[in-house]
Amino acid sequence: QWRHLTTKLPEWLDDCRQYAKDGEAASYIPELAKAPADALGISILTPDGSMIAGGDSGLQFTMQSISKVFTLLLALVDHGEEHVFSKVGMEPTGDDFNSILKLELVEPGIPFNPLINAGAIAVTSLIKGSSVAERTERVLAFIRLMAGDDAIDYNETVSRSESVTAHRNRSLAYFLKENGVLDEQTSVEEVLSVYFNHCAIEVTCGHLARMGLILACGGFDPLSGRQLVPRRYVQIAKTFMLTCGMYNASGEFAIRAGIPAKSGVAGGILAVVPGQYGIGVVGPALNRKGNSIAGIRLLETMSVECDWSIF
Ligand code: GLU
Repeated sequence: QWRHLTTKLPEWLDDCRQYAKDGEAASYIPELAKAPADALGISILTPDGSMIAGGDSGLQFTMQSISKVFTLLLALVDHGEEHVFSKVGMEPTGDDFNSILKLELVEPGIPFNPLINAGAIAVTSLIKGSSVAERTERVLAFIRLMAGDDAIDYNETVSRSESVTAHRNRSLAYFLKENGVLDEQTSVEEVLSVYFNHCAIEVTCGHLARMGLILACGGFDPLSGRQLVPRRYVQIAKTFMLTCGMYNASGEFAIRAGIPAKSGVAGGILAVVPGQYGIGVVGPALNRKGNSIAGIRLLETMSVECDWSIF
């Protein structure tokens, strides 16, 4: 399979890159519109440290919603399962990621799941720390650990660009405050600042592949020989990735590719082939559901060719 991957990847990249012209880079966060829409890159990492990289794998992009997987893990480490799931549910919505529609429907007023914006903002409020800077730093430290790179940082320009246009996220957050999901002591604006900062953490495909590998190995980092996150929490994160990771195209992706994955509006996708590979993909042109149009094609092609579906 490794040889098949190595020999066929350039061809698959060329084929899939063509789909980029049918999509566009996200522009509701003005800074994201500057990304090269026709780029497509991938890195694949194995437990023995072998890596395949192709296309624009060196492109830097912001994690956006992919960071929600890691804030969830950190909140679980900080508070345990029971507390986290008193603030956020476990169900997919079938709605857009920033939907305000279904907020009230699961339990009284808790967001459906940690990967939609309302749920992710609730999870961000659980990250321990006494200031925006300290909480941002804790998320960064966790992502640096998982990605094996101390130089990872967030892009302040992208964070600010999101903050000035985030009217809907702001209303979601105030709604959560009204419903007591964000508690009395919590400052809505501080939680939002941490949220924008962690969405703006800048990575490459190689970083995502490394983080994905740790998820693929149940929280164990085969390259450093350390268990970085409890296996149970990684199991929870991968389940959410499978059921809710690709916005309201998660069901379709589960049928076509059949692996846990999480996309972000900057065009990144973190994918996991359990026990085998961590994968990072980037392709800034998005389809109407907000997923990388060429990136999805590439993952679906590889999954079929290599028989990756977990089902
Ligand atoms: N920071 C983005 C937002 O909240 C993340 C969206 C995404 O990647 O889905 O709108």
